[in-house]
Amino acid sequence: MFLLFGTRPALALLVIVTFRCDYCGQTVAQRVFKKTNKFTLFFVPLFSFSKSYFVECSNCGGATKLTEAQAHRSMQTAGATTYPDGR
Ligand SMILES: [Zn+2]
Repeated sequence: MFLLFGTRPALALLVIVTFRCDYCGQTVAQRVFKKTNKFTLFFVPLFSFSKSYFVECSNCGGATKLTEAQAHRSMQTAGATTYPDGR
């Protein structure tokens, strides 16, 4: 008998906000993402064991890490009322 296990990254778009990018200097849409890593057993995702947040510029692709509080604040600023994970 053998076990087939591993990890799988999952990316979720939380919100799109518009502000000036620090990399290219343009005021364009910035996408806020939540990245989670999921433990898989026989390719079936079972649970998440780490998560991180980042914002990506739609013009130049420059990415900056965010804290969870910063990501949630950007969602509140954009007027989002629910989180993709159901909260
Ligand atoms: Zn940019």
